[in-house]
Amino acid sequence: MSNTLQGIGVSKGISIGPAYVFYRELPEVLEYSISKYDADDEVKRFEVAREKAQQQLTNIKNTISSETPHDITLFIDTHLLMLDDPVLYEDTVSHIRARLCNAEWALQVQVERIVKVFDDMDDAYLKTRRDDIIHVTERIQRCLMNAPEFSDDADKTGIEKLSERLKDRIIVADDLTPADTLLMQHQKIAGFITEYGGPLSHTAILARNLGIPAIVGVHNAKHLIQANELIVLDGNTGKIHLNPQRKELSAFKSLIRDERQRRKKLFDLKNKPAQTTDGLKISLLGNIDRPADVRILRQHDHTGVGLYRTEMLFIEHNDMPSEEEQFETYRRALRSLKGHLLTIRTTDLGADKELADTTQHGPLIHNPALGLRAIRRCLKDPQLLFLPQIKAILRTAGYGPACMMIPMISCISELEQALELIEQAKVELKSRRVRFDANIKIGAMIEVPSAALVADSLAQKLDFLSIGTNDLIQYTLAFDRIDDEVSYLYNPLHPAVLKLIQMTLNAGETQGIQVSMCGEMASDTQYTRLLLGMGLQSFSVQANSLLDVKHIINHSEIAKLRPLSEQILNLTNPAEIKNSVAELNRQFS
Ligand code: PEP
Ligand code: MG
Repeated sequence: MSNTLQGIGVSKGISIGPAYVFYRELPEVLEYSISKYDADDEVKRFEVAREKAQQQLTNIKNTISSETPHDITLFIDTHLLMLDDPVLYEDTVSHIRARLCNAEWALQVQVERIVKVFDDMDDAYLKTRRDDIIHVTERIQRCLMNAPEFSDDADKTGIEKLSERLKDRIIVADDLTPADTLLMQHQKIAGFITEYGGPLSHTAILARNLGIPAIVGVHNAKHLIQANELIVLDGNTGKIHLNPQRKELSAFKSLIRDERQRRKKLFDLKNKPAQTTDGLKISLLGNIDRPADVRILRQHDHTGVGLYRTEMLFIEHNDMPSEEEQFETYRRALRSLKGHLLTIRTTDLGADKELADTTQHGPLIHNPALGLRAIRRCLKDPQLLFLPQIKAILRTAGYGPACMMIPMISCISELEQALELIEQAKVELKSRRVRFDANIKIGAMIEVPSAALVADSLAQKLDFLSIGTNDLIQYTLAFDRIDDEVSYLYNPLHPAVLKLIQMTLNAGETQGIQVSMCGEMASDTQYTRLLLGMGLQSFSVQANSLLDVKHIINHSEIAKLRPLSEQILNLTNPAEIKNSVAELNRQFS
């Protein structure tokens, strides 16, 4: 038997491949394509990064004491001059436009070209300028990439084509940000293993959405796994098998084949309605992070979006995108949905979805999940964050079925403030005579226990509610969703969690508005029957889970599930609840 390591499987699936161990010293540059409509945005992103790099260098220069040797200040001046170099700037911009690729890659291509020219020179002094070019480029790359920078063991120059090195590899890193994961998606990695992180971290959620098998919380993985070592990553069990023997390997390969067959069969459900055997139609929507994800969604099912997490736009932009930029982005998502609903969530920045440059938001906070996050952050400075976004959403809704959803509401006064600002935004848009939907549907996420407890009064002011179980469970059970040490506390079947969900469903029913669920619990098929029995009629799930959840719905009978779910809700012992839900699933499978 091979050696195994145990972690927390956060994204299902088995993958086999050589390990690629990442370190954080140098930026890795990943290549991906952009649409021609995004070229202007990409150029802007490059310009902003260049200005930021200039600012960083100027700041460093200003803090240098007068005793510092002249050659050091000279070196900064040289770097500043290089940042201004038209060859670097213009050729990068032309490359972005001509090749429709990301700014990081376009810049990398230019630097390789310039480095080659220096390498071919005989002059020893000029040759040293080669390193300056590399350092300057790295600085821009760091500003461009929201992700922490990476390099691998094998190649510290970071200049060779990374996409070839990452393809079909299993990435081993201390931690990954959501932005890292997005970039890696374009490199067709086979999976990833991290030393830290919990199953509800946004990186884990993203991995599930993108269908990348992943394991987190494998302490010391970077030391225990050798570069290029063949490994089997089993996202279903959280086990990593190092250097598997031939027999083991073929057993895993056959499991991969079986899963492929199962998924192929599930595809018969694509574009069929989600409906219980006793005729109850269920709304089954998908979660996305970016307009491009609509394509992934449509590979599984042609349906709408119940949760568009707009934070990625801010993170990738690494700043506040303007109203216009946001409007264009949301409209792009709406257009690709071809008439299906787009639920745009106002931004939930904070906690593990932070802009790289957080200095503008004050000092680092110890407990960011309880800090200035989501709507709290939006309300603190509405002009900066909230108003441009809600105007962009209102305008988007003028062009098709789009609604607005507010995250992290914890009390009625917070909701009232947000609603007032939405009214103010409408007045402004009216005076500007731009097209928008004055009757846009507005909903709130129920993801803070206090919100569930007052869901009745919130529901009176809203068109819909959506239960965010990731945060609701985190805050109810007091564990940090991104900390692998306490991730064992995540339990959607805790009676307190079930009570809060039931209260929210009841509030929706009393006030006659729809209650949806868009947290991870909705994507996990072991809970689908219980939730149906509790009265949930709208699920928004990972693209990858759409057909799995639909399969369960279409084999469920509400009339039978209802009384059984009611019995489960009366239980108080989590272990008993777990057994009863397992029994419920066995009975109906
Ligand atoms: C949730 O909390 O369940 C949710 C959907 O929001 P997020 O995971 O983005 O915090
Ligand atoms: Mg949340």
